[in-house]
Amino acid sequence: MGPNEHWDIIVVGGGHAGLEAAWAASGLGARVLMITLRADRIGAMSCNPAIGGLAKGQIVREIDALGGLMGRATDAAGIQFRILNTSRGAAVHGPRAQADKHAYARTTQELIATRDIHILEAQVSGLDVTGNRCTGVRIRQSADTDETLLRSSAVVVTTGTFMSGLMHTGADRTPGGRVGEQSAAHLSSNLKAARLRARPTQDRDAAAVDSRVDRLFQPCAAAWR
Ligand SMILES: Cc1cc2nc3c(=O)[nH]c(=O)nc-3n(C[C@H](O)[C@H](O)[C@H](O)COP(=O)(O)OP(=O)(O)OC[C@H]3O[C@@H](n4cnc5c(N)ncnc54)[C@H](O)[C@@H]3O)c2cc1C
Repeated sequence: MGPNEHWDIIVVGGGHAGLEAAWAASGLGARVLMITLRADRIGAMSCNPAIGGLAKGQIVREIDALGGLMGRATDAAGIQFRILNTSRGAAVHGPRAQADKHAYARTTQELIATRDIHILEAQVSGLDVTGNRCTGVRIRQSADTDETLLRSSAVVVTTGTFMSGLMHTGADRTPGGRVGEQSAAHLSSNLKAARLRARPTQDRDAAAVDSRVDRLFQPCAAAWR
């Protein structure tokens, strides 16, 4: 993997969203590079190892119907399967599985290893934008190395709770994406500089990027197709 290599799609992040993006893109025949802060944490379930639940189970089923990876990994790693809210009507039933979180992560890593998905452990410090098009990402592999530019036809950003992540422990606040993992400060400031505002969220929500991101990414996706 060299700096002159051109990827069809670069996926930033190896959580639930990044896995599905990489899996879907590779299923369409794209050469995919997944960049993540820690390769051994690909598919890590942040806290409660639940898949689905109220207002989420139907999304898991939709992902499954579309050929996604989450349902397969849950079948392999699930330890309890329930339908929640059965006292109410069928429209609000919530299928939910509890998974062995280590088996879940391991299964996702095994699944993506069967596809043309390349893994790079690095921090994406910024998007490379030319005009109205995103043409790649800039990465740092360690704090004391220079930035490297990686080129691609499309970039999918799935950085979850890591963008300017702040962890609250009692009265203490420490920067971090998850316990033991750094936050993505450089990428957050780069998106702000590009005037793509990441909506600050609280609790356990992944940060949401302002809808203007569509303007940036649509041409990239079209270019790859
Ligand atoms: C403590 C805690 C508890 C939670 N509990 C629950 C729960 O019980 N149920 C629930 O549904 N959700 C829970 N969540 C929310 C959970 O984070 C999301 O549901 C889910 O993990 C989001 O998936 P994701 O793929 O968007 O991002 P994540 O799983 O957060 O993955 C982000 C990925 O991006 C990578 N990344 C980030 N920045 C960069 C960068 N600059 N360069 C390269 N790689 C980068 C990371 O390495 C990681 O691989 C919890 C979150 C936290 C922090």
